[in-house]
Amino acid sequence: MTEVISHHRTRTADAALRQRARAVIPGGMYGHLSANALPAEYPQFYQRSEGAHVWDVDGNEYVDLMCSFGPVILGHKHPKVEKAVAAQLAEGDTQAGPAACMVEAAELLVDRVAHADWAMFAKNGTDATTTCLMVARAATSRNKVLAAAGAYHGSAPWCTLRLDGVTPEDRANMAYYTFNDIASVERAVQVADGDVAAIIVSPFKHDAGFDQEMVDPEFARRLRLLCDRIGAVLIMDEVRAGFRLNDGGSWEPIGVAPDLSAWSKAIGNGYPLAAVLGTESLSDAASRIFVTGSFWFQAVPMAASIATITAIRDEGAVPAMERIGTKLRAGIERQALEAGLTVFQTGPVQMPGLRFADDENFARARAFCASVVEHGVIVHPRHNWFVSAAHTDQDIDSVLDATWQGFQAVISQFGAS
Ligand code: PMP
Repeated sequence: MTEVISHHRTRTADAALRQRARAVIPGGMYGHLSANALPAEYPQFYQRSEGAHVWDVDGNEYVDLMCSFGPVILGHKHPKVEKAVAAQLAEGDTQAGPAACMVEAAELLVDRVAHADWAMFAKNGTDATTTCLMVARAATSRNKVLAAAGAYHGSAPWCTLRLDGVTPEDRANMAYYTFNDIASVERAVQVADGDVAAIIVSPFKHDAGFDQEMVDPEFARRLRLLCDRIGAVLIMDEVRAGFRLNDGGSWEPIGVAPDLSAWSKAIGNGYPLAAVLGTESLSDAASRIFVTGSFWFQAVPMAASIATITAIRDEGAVPAMERIGTKLRAGIERQALEAGLTVFQTGPVQMPGLRFADDENFARARAFCASVVEHGVIVHPRHNWFVSAAHTDQDIDSVLDATWQGFQAVISQFGAS
């Protein structure tokens, strides 16, 4: 292990941009990148990115373990994706209508994801989850949607994290169950009294600020049976986990198929694209709803998506992320033991979750992340991290040097646990 070193990173350009932003952007920044959502030491503005590395506006280099909160699955500027992007950009992007690659992207997704017979495209994960709800309601002529309490499905009024700007009516048709607890779903179904259009679920529980929890296959199977029994649509929110656990649908290995799935993030390796995939029986309802967007037919992200999804399988991205994620998890476990700190690592190794014992208000996590960022690795104190297929053994060695410093910072502020 390396000794504790302190190398202070210059943040003058970032500080100047933050100050200018405060004058012209509400709160200086909003959502999950707002100043109060990030540790103070976290750079807010970035200059460039390459492979598993990013550089902030002050020129500081980092190993990127957030992958832009998921989209960057093959690494920044993956050559095959960039080649496809350049070729499509030379032809056109936002045109009078979509390019031929829209059909090719739909064919590829339908080929890769077992439950899917059709695809529709949009921009963000919220577009995709919201469209799924509309398709389910159009298909069933029912109103209510059951979601796991605390799960994030986007920032539209039906699902956004905070209630500011949201009316009770926006949530009137939402009801909640507990992830992995089928009895709680049954209870919510009973209360909904025959009016359940859909049940939405994530591949595993990845709520920010909580331990992650893999799905109990029995829960998944019973959820499927329950939806069939009551005639509700099973919606899988693949936005965050999609293509990191499996190069098809995330529940394919356990043999449970949703009726609809919402995708975004990793499907374009950073280029803006979302997709709704569905079974044949919902194709008519999907063609009846009116959803669109000025940029939903952009050709460049679709070309990027074809190259990304192809490379995910051809280059073995999932096993690569599993291997490197396992190395990271084992290294952190060794370090925590050596440092005498109790930590809990949860969720799939490709999407690491780390929590400190007795960590009220995430004080230890914040101190840890501040130090890790200071030592050249982008991580987050409350949100899961993301491994990409571009992380090398050397990158993980650098990450482990930084996490060791992070553990020392926790001990010096809070003592060993
Ligand atoms: N669902 C899940 C599971 C997500 O993680 C996210 C984004 N973090 C969304 C939906 C919303 O996606 P977007 O931010 O692209 O609208």
